[in-house]
Amino acid sequence: MSVTTSASSIGDEAIANAKHLVDGELVAGTGVIEVFDPSTGEVFAHCPTADDTIVDQAMGAAARALPEWARSADARRAALAKMTDVIAANADLLAYVLARDTGNPNAAMEVQGAVDHARYWSELQIPVDTVDFGPGGKVTVERHPAGVVAMILAWNAPLLMLVNKIGCALLAGDTIVAKPSPFAPLTPLVFGALISDVFPAGVMNIVVGDADTGKAMVSHRLTNLVSFTGSVAAGRSIAGVASTELKRLALELGGNDAAIVLPEVDLDAAIPGIWNGAFFHSGQICSAVKRLYVHQSRYQEVSERLAAIAEQQHLGSPFEPGVTMGPLTTRPQFERVSELVADALRSGGEAIAGGAPVDREGYFIEPTIFRGLTAGSRLVDEEQFGPVLPVLSYSDLEDAIFAANDTSYGLSGSVWGADLEFAQSVARRLQAGTVWVNRHGAMSAATPYGGFKDSGIGRENGLLGVDHFSELQTVHVGL
Ligand code: NAD
Repeated sequence: MSVTTSASSIGDEAIANAKHLVDGELVAGTGVIEVFDPSTGEVFAHCPTADDTIVDQAMGAAARALPEWARSADARRAALAKMTDVIAANADLLAYVLARDTGNPNAAMEVQGAVDHARYWSELQIPVDTVDFGPGGKVTVERHPAGVVAMILAWNAPLLMLVNKIGCALLAGDTIVAKPSPFAPLTPLVFGALISDVFPAGVMNIVVGDADTGKAMVSHRLTNLVSFTGSVAAGRSIAGVASTELKRLALELGGNDAAIVLPEVDLDAAIPGIWNGAFFHSGQICSAVKRLYVHQSRYQEVSERLAAIAEQQHLGSPFEPGVTMGPLTTRPQFERVSELVADALRSGGEAIAGGAPVDREGYFIEPTIFRGLTAGSRLVDEEQFGPVLPVLSYSDLEDAIFAANDTSYGLSGSVWGADLEFAQSVARRLQAGTVWVNRHGAMSAATPYGGFKDSGIGRENGLLGVDHFSELQTVHVGL
């Protein structure tokens, strides 16, 4: 990506001054963590962390701000429109910080996504539903704020994820304490500084910390709703804590998305979409294609065409010219994907492209296409969250559908074929919260999103998302 000198110098200054946003003030932390450059593995910044006292202050501020914030949806939309303008006006700065935080060469696209999502929430009208109660009564269903939201986030899309979730929750009238991942903490804090005077003090708080900070937020007495995006393991633990106090809960968890390629598919159209669906952002997308099932008649062609694209990738830092694929964002993720690749090779997989970490500094893994793996291999059974795709062959479509569903995950999936009616009928049989035909990964703030099975509880986006951040009240009036 190209970066202007002013964006990088303002960005570096913003990174050096990163602070928590608590009760409308930018506050220093009580601790500090090192932030690593994914392209080199070296520490490039330090970031403040919050202890339980700061979490408590943020929660108190959010609770105090709630009654006034809940009062006017028009005022909330106006503030969200201002937030949208602030993101758009600082797009270059945010893209620079995001690229440093995550190593993502497409950081500018994520910032544009944040603008689009923020604008959606700033314009959405929250309806009052009417229920037909027959003569003698009028019944409406109205949406009230759920209260103080403890929002705990993953590292892979730290700006878009934050902006989308807060857009929805703030529109619903909630107030928020958000905790980004300690693996990509700078973009959310720089964003927090930019919007520090957009909302009334206490409405929007951002603190950085680790899992213990997240636990303190979940169990805090003022938390009404926990909104979590991250791994199944952490989601399970959070659900356990939240359930003892009956806190409201929304969980967006991991996935092991299957894509099924039907025999009569148009591969010229499908291959670029499958590639992007699997390898965009080095595969670090919850809804990436993580297993590809291809009819045996097209298996060789599909796998070889994907391998050819893999070989053409130019890996490097987001700031190097011509780079098409960045590093993994975190060292643990790099180590995990390296381990899955080594395991796949040991268990008989054939890497027809890639197949190893890149011999250079930083967290780079060669984009890898595996053939010859079956269920039971870790790379097929587990979520890799990296630039490595197992391509599996099937002869009977029923077997492919069974295999696609034979997982505890259920986030999303796709079917690729020329007969749209038939492809849709197959897609509907996938046990997943979102299914696509001839695309994978397309979504917007308006499209409900969430998982079946272990991939989550609840739906984000659109009015269903607003409902999740709301308490619904049924109002009966006798006529
Ligand atoms: P993670 O679960 O390790 O961490 C996520 C966040 O939770 C971090 O902020 C972390 O500090 C915090 N945390 C961890 N344990 C906690 C606990 N017990 N209590 C409270 N907070 C806790 O996940 P990650 O490695 O940051 O993210 C990768 C995972 O996120 C992948 O599985 C990916 O599929 C998933 N993800 C899902 C979606 C979605 O919308 N479904 C989107 C992005 C990422």
